Amino acid sequence: SHTAEIIAVGTELLLGNITNTNASEISRALSAVGVNVFWHTVVGDNPERLREALDIARKRADVILTTGGLGPTYDDLTKQTVCETFGKPLVLREDVLEHIRTYFARNVHLTMPENNRQQAEFPADCVIFDNPVGTAPGCAFEAEGVHVLMLPGPPFEMRTMLQNWAVPYLRGLSKEVIVSHDIMTFGLGESPMEDLMRERISRMENPSLATYAKPSEVRLRATAKADSAAAAEAMLVPVVKEVTDYLGDVVYGVDIPNLETVCMTHLKEKGWTFATAESCTGGQIAARITALSGASSVYRGGVVSYWTSVKAEVLGVPQTLLDQYGAVSEECARSMAENARRITGADIGLSVTGVAGPDPDERNNPVGLVYVGLASPDGTWCRKLELGKRRRDRIQDLAANHAYDML
Ligand code: ATP
Ligand code: MG
Repeated sequence: SHTAEIIAVGTELLLGNITNTNASEISRALSAVGVNVFWHTVVGDNPERLREALDIARKRADVILTTGGLGPTYDDLTKQTVCETFGKPLVLREDVLEHIRTYFARNVHLTMPENNRQQAEFPADCVIFDNPVGTAPGCAFEAEGVHVLMLPGPPFEMRTMLQNWAVPYLRGLSKEVIVSHDIMTFGLGESPMEDLMRERISRMENPSLATYAKPSEVRLRATAKADSAAAAEAMLVPVVKEVTDYLGDVVYGVDIPNLETVCMTHLKEKGWTFATAESCTGGQIAARITALSGASSVYRGGVVSYWTSVKAEVLGVPQTLLDQYGAVSEECARSMAENARRITGADIGLSVTGVAGPDPDERNNPVGLVYVGLASPDGTWCRKLELGKRRRDRIQDLAANHAYDML
């Protein structure tokens, strides 16, 4: 398989003014087609240093992808420098020049400025990739066994051209097909998961298995390489089944983006709706479900009852209960869930109350103490979480995940 280096060109990347999101997008796309990205390089708009970077890259990689520096201004020097490095002449392509002129006439209603001419100059004998969303076309050529692909810098243009032609171009380099499935888990941290899976992960090559941890979830990706998608798929089926059976309850789905998506599917099947009463998660549970299209069929609404007085007056949590147990308590979580259910008429009420930190609350409850409540027609449950001293946003994230896990 191929070995790739991504070179992002732009002084503003080095200065930290913009983040090199293009490199991560390109990496993801390449790994999906079985090209191993081994290096990310960032270099400023400087021909000498770009040339050095290209010289290094051509020695260690057989696919080089550049992004940026294809524009019409004086600092856009990727094509010239690549041509110098690979000893290729830069030639004017009349067809592209015409295309750019037409683009200007249609989209900018201007005649093309003279310096856009250099956007029509390309390395001799290259394949040109149209840019349907901008003026700078991309291009690719092969020299001495190294494939060089040049993409523009603006992320939207880069992405369009990456998907439309760079990916098909690279896929055409090898006959191998790569298929992956993501086994989504919640409830086991990254290191326990790795301990549990280590032997399996190191034993498996094709299909291979890898773990990816998000703040509070672990994704296990099973990947197979074969001559056809069907063959790769056939190799994956037993692996996915074996791992899913082995891990049991912590698996919440395969190829599903997140917990709330599973909840939405289950609730839809049952024809149920839910409502929320949130305190320390500040509306995250509501935000996450409403981010999904079709959420209105399962989610009725919710209250962010941050102050104790809002828990009492808006939700109707009894003042006596709040006085006796406090807002961060199992009793309060239960009452919040029951009241969310009652007020909205939903089948299920879901609640969260806890201490997100960084300091303990006024009753000296420790940071990370969170209660998740769930009220349903069959009764009310509560889950007590001791998440410990973590960052505030991590605690909120985890608490929201636990709420969806309970749901
Ligand atoms: P243009 O025709 O716009 O000049 P270009 O191919 O020359 O295109 P650059 O000038 O290098 O591209 O970058 C244009 C803009 O695209 C940058 O100001 C930046 O906002 C964005 N950009 C460039 N490179 C990256 C990158 N690696 N990751 C994310 N954004 C980028
Ligand atoms: Mg530019």
